[in-house]
Amino acid sequence: MIPLYFRESLPDGFFESEPHTAFEIFEGPTLIHLRGESDTTVFISTLLHGNEHTGYEALKSILQNQNRKKSLLILIGNVEAARFGLRQLESQHDYNRVWSGGDLPEQIWATQVLEKVKTFSPQYAIDIHNNSGRNPHYACINKLDSQFFALAEQFSPLTVFFSKPDSALSVAMKSICPSLTIECGLSNSHPGLGATTNFLNNCINIKSFQAAQSRYEYYQVVARIFIDPKYSFDFGNEDADISLNPEIDEFNFKELPTNTLLGRINKNGAELLVEDREHNHLESEFFDYSNQEIRTKKKMVPSMLTTNKTVIEQDCLGYIMDRVWHQT
Ligand SMILES: [Zn+2]
Repeated sequence: MIPLYFRESLPDGFFESEPHTAFEIFEGPTLIHLRGESDTTVFISTLLHGNEHTGYEALKSILQNQNRKKSLLILIGNVEAARFGLRQLESQHDYNRVWSGGDLPEQIWATQVLEKVKTFSPQYAIDIHNNSGRNPHYACINKLDSQFFALAEQFSPLTVFFSKPDSALSVAMKSICPSLTIECGLSNSHPGLGATTNFLNNCINIKSFQAAQSRYEYYQVVARIFIDPKYSFDFGNEDADISLNPEIDEFNFKELPTNTLLGRINKNGAELLVEDREHNHLESEFFDYSNQEIRTKKKMVPSMLTTNKTVIEQDCLGYIMDRVWHQT
């Protein structure tokens, strides 16, 4: 069982701490309520993934200023995993896949956290994450609603909509208040930290964000790209069955023209696997393998492409998105 720690002040040593030393001042995952000038409360969550540090650093920055217009409810998540620089420990379940109920210790804990968070009737909920590949910073929403778009555009011109996994924190919060998962680029990247700090400062000091448009552009994931484990892969290494462009993560959120080269095939039959949400295979729809090359077969916008081989093996190479308009 995971206890729910709750406190009404920051622990001593908070401003000197780092994500990997947070376990020294937090006994475990902890909710912190900090009063501001008004009772309007913004809920901010960080370290649900222990190797994603931007949120923790941004909080240290914004909390230096004691004069806040609004109150804050902060969730410091998986400090045990952060101690070791890991997304989660091997013995743990992913802290951002436990928010839709269930009997696992992490799920029971998450349900308790949600009950407590609800008692504060937050105005906004922001869960802060990082990507493993180079991506611009962007906001994810889980409800096509103008208030959600208005909050998202304060952080980035790029908005992504997702409904799965439905066990993410921002999905659980969407029925309570406008909520976001924000992806701040690589952990410890300066542009991502600056954008996050500004955004959080605005959230806790500006009364509310009004929807100023009737039409919002967003992206939604249409398919996932991964590599069949029976083939070897590498970046810029022609000894591997599949040799990918070492700069592949430069393509994230860019509209790639037809015929863009992504890599080379060095073994007959090797190809990238592409699946939509219903697990339909779409390899031949998106990629062409003539002349032992992997080229795009149509225009596409990829995201979360990574060169981290562990992430690719455990999860995927990246996603293909569609650009969509929402009319309010
Ligand atoms: Zn994350």
